[in-house]
Amino acid sequence: MSDHYAVIGNPIGHTKSPLIHGMFAEMTRQNLVYTAIEGSLGGFATDVDRFRQAGGRGMNVTAPFKLDAFAYATEHSDRARLAGAVNALKFDGDRVLAENFDGIGLTRDVVHNLGCPLKDKRVLLLGAGGAARGALLPFLAQGPTVLDIANRTLEEAQALAQEVADLGTVRALRYAHLETEQYDLVFNATSASLRGELPPVPATVFAPGALAYELAYGKGLTPFLRLAQGAGVQQLADGVGMLVEQAAEAFAWWRGVRPQTQDVIDQLKIPLV
Ligand code: NDP
Repeated sequence: MSDHYAVIGNPIGHTKSPLIHGMFAEMTRQNLVYTAIEGSLGGFATDVDRFRQAGGRGMNVTAPFKLDAFAYATEHSDRARLAGAVNALKFDGDRVLAENFDGIGLTRDVVHNLGCPLKDKRVLLLGAGGAARGALLPFLAQGPTVLDIANRTLEEAQALAQEVADLGTVRALRYAHLETEQYDLVFNATSASLRGELPPVPATVFAPGALAYELAYGKGLTPFLRLAQGAGVQQLADGVGMLVEQAAEAFAWWRGVRPQTQDVIDQLKIPLV
């Protein structure tokens, strides 16, 4: 019998996870089925209990259940703990192991797929929500010279910088402060693009040769990427590589084999025009 995995979210109709994990399973010859579950709002624990009782082995978790998954789990990785959010669960008897692969997936996409090391670079993260939180530890592990977080609500960025103060220097800035700064890598980890909005970032933040990375995916040229393009940035990327890489991390965690990702990214990529 096949092992059963699933992604849970609400809404879930848009999810690419069954397609991605289906491709991974085929290429690694793993015998599994991967489905999408529309979780009931307020009923996350009941839905996951049911899935486990039916023999489910693991789950990906997407909005709005990443905090519910954190509360449901019995053991958390450091990444999940810092992010305060969980995007992958593994079931082992009564144990529920929790991970957050968003940040490591993002880092792998940038360093490995796009060939942009963070080491000794000036890095700017826009936003201080779940995705930004998940990115902090993997980013710091790469050894950037500067890692700044700008957020509309400054206190959120300050709290985040404080939480990782032992691990590296992270500055929390207001957007207005960015007028005098330049960065080699600029990540839009705000949710502004999902509503076609632009965070108030000045076009001057991009250093010569910079990478502009939009964490949202499937949106084409978002206002942030358009701003970067207008400022002369040549390297533009959206979050499709991050999506596939975090899926590959979860797959490896569950199955013990890491699938190749580039073909899958190429199949899901839409042009940034
Ligand atoms: P959260 O809701 O946790 O955080 C949202 C952040 O965006 C907050 O910092 C908020 O600031 C900021 N924000 C929202 N609107 C604006 C605006 N108009 N101007 C400036 N700042 C704004 O979202 P997530 O962290 O979960 O997601 C962030 C992005 O990352 C989304 O685009 C999401 O699609 C993407 N993502 C991509 C993944 C992938 O695999 N590619 C995986 C996970 C997320 P404030 O604190 O002031 O409210």
